[in-house]
Amino acid sequence: MALLSIVSPFLNESGSVADFAAFTARLAAELQEAHGLDLEVILVDDGSTDDSISRFRGVLGGNWRIVELSRNFGKEIALFAGIEESRGDYVMMVDADLQHPYDVCIELVSTLLADDNLDAVYSVRDDRREESVRKAIAGRLFYWLINSSQRFAIPENAGDFRIMRRNVVDALLKVRDKRRFNKGLYAWTGFRQKGISYTPDLRVAGDSKWSKLSLLALSLEGITSFSPIPLRVVSGLGALTGLFGILHGLKILFEVMFYGISVPGFPSLMVAVTVLGGFNLALLGLLGEYLWVAVAEGKDRPLYIVRRIHSADGSP
Ligand code: UDP
Ligand code: MG
Repeated sequence: MALLSIVSPFLNESGSVADFAAFTARLAAELQEAHGLDLEVILVDDGSTDDSISRFRGVLGGNWRIVELSRNFGKEIALFAGIEESRGDYVMMVDADLQHPYDVCIELVSTLLADDNLDAVYSVRDDRREESVRKAIAGRLFYWLINSSQRFAIPENAGDFRIMRRNVVDALLKVRDKRRFNKGLYAWTGFRQKGISYTPDLRVAGDSKWSKLSLLALSLEGITSFSPIPLRVVSGLGALTGLFGILHGLKILFEVMFYGISVPGFPSLMVAVTVLGGFNLALLGLLGEYLWVAVAEGKDRPLYIVRRIHSADGSP
């Protein structure tokens, strides 16, 4: 019988444990009946400091394992640890806070199973409700930056909530990027993928673990690991300013030689110094961002460290 793995990373989600257990139990029953699928639940504890694990152990039924990481590694890495532990012919990634609606899970599964030619089905978050104009513009710019220079396109607003066949999962596992931008990697692997749109539910308990700052950091990750455009824009600007400086210098030389006009030095000097200095600093910072990515990849540390694996039958 085919096996479907549910992979869910969690960080201090003790408030939604009971609902999550009910959610997976219902899913197991329905998938068994409608599609003849077995279900395994792979939870990844991404360094929780509350009692989430013992609560999960208390209420989970059926076939489950909890991969307890040695500390917080971030959701992108936790998901990787989860799919590495999974054994399913299909893998579906669902958040432990139950923001991914039950019906959409069923829809993901049935869309994939209905079409032999599909390798993965991803979900596209449709939160026009809360979308501000500023956020929409920033999002557009972000996707334009990372999509305008490559052979594959990263779909806008597609998240980690998706189902994949084993071939896609194995491809993802081969990508050992340490600074991971999952949305980019899903698209990078290629395959036949299809998107369905959904509106996320509200959180059952607790608050989002992403601050504005960590979202910004993730976007930067996306840009530095998928786009050379910022570097090119800044080098282009640098070349332009340099050219402008040369022309300006020639003009001054011409005026002095043929008209005897002496230019007031200080203002023009200040302009040159501040403009060029500013560009220089900006480019240095940008170079540093890319270098930081290169350094992290070069260190060859493991992606994550497991402290323990908890399982239904108690075996290690
Ligand atoms: N999460 C995680 N590690 C982190 C941050 C979040 O495993 O460092 C989990 C979190 O417990 C949740 C999922 O990732 O199950 C999505 O996080 P969250 O709900 O905070 O994000 P949002 O839904 O607001 O995008
Ligand atoms: Mg959430």
